[in-house]
Amino acid sequence: MLPLVTHPSYSYGFPPNHRFAMEKFALLAAHLRGAGLLRSDNLFRPSRAKLSWLERVHCPDYIARFIDNRWTAREIKRCNLPWSEGLVERSLVSPAGTVLTAQLALHTGIACHLAGGTHHAHYDYASGFCVFNDLAITAKLLLDENQLERVLIFDCDVHQGDGTAAVLANEPRAFTCSIHAGNNFPFTKSLSDCDVALDDGLDDDAYLAVVAETLQAVVDQHRPQLVLYDAGVDVYAADPLGRLKVSEAGIRQRDRLVLEFLRGRGIPVATVIGGGYDDDRQALARRHAIVVEEAARLLAAS
Ligand SMILES: [Zn+2]
Repeated sequence: MLPLVTHPSYSYGFPPNHRFAMEKFALLAAHLRGAGLLRSDNLFRPSRAKLSWLERVHCPDYIARFIDNRWTAREIKRCNLPWSEGLVERSLVSPAGTVLTAQLALHTGIACHLAGGTHHAHYDYASGFCVFNDLAITAKLLLDENQLERVLIFDCDVHQGDGTAAVLANEPRAFTCSIHAGNNFPFTKSLSDCDVALDDGLDDDAYLAVVAETLQAVVDQHRPQLVLYDAGVDVYAADPLGRLKVSEAGIRQRDRLVLEFLRGRGIPVATVIGGGYDDDRQALARRHAIVVEEAARLLAAS
């Protein structure tokens, strides 16, 4: 049984034409329900993250000012999401969803969060639609509370995981790896433990070769006991915020090769959906479902 983690707060009343497709989380859950992959027996709902979890990687004053709607106009602009009670709620629940997914993955080998991957969130500022860094929070929490010694964050979103890299820069137990389009946002990059900057217009074959080679190298180097896999679909050729030329078949091959490799090594993996910005939001939800479909297929085969 593949555990899937989601929460109704992930999609809330939000400007429908905003670049950020807030409805994609509910559409993804509905799509997976329709496909028989999300059922009552494998659905897990997180509650809000404790403040102490967020404070492991974020400034307490930054957190409090967000919750109380005391960000400056400049801070809101950098986040690029309008403040609302709904945004606060989903921002508090979603990191707990990634934590829960990771804990489930330690038991079942694979688990999928139908959200997550807010990798641009830094210690004391939001950026690029990201308020709190679920990947860094989860890595820190599991290292400290589950007695893990080595966690790998394998970030295949098309944008660099700059917040994750910065927040975890002084945490040797967490290895950050980002494979991203070099000429894309964020234009000032952080230093991950492993960065692979891809050229614009990279196609399936070249992309998949880089992903496979990089994954093997970082797993051999860090020997993680848990992997947090950001399966962003903004690498897709027609994504308005991506710069690569990866097809949907290429995304499926990527997710399959990552999950099969880690399963072959016996390393638990928690997946998050990461970025994806298609104006066709049903198509976007179906694209985000690919990693779940591949995880389910792999679990059923073993
Ligand atoms: Zn992205």
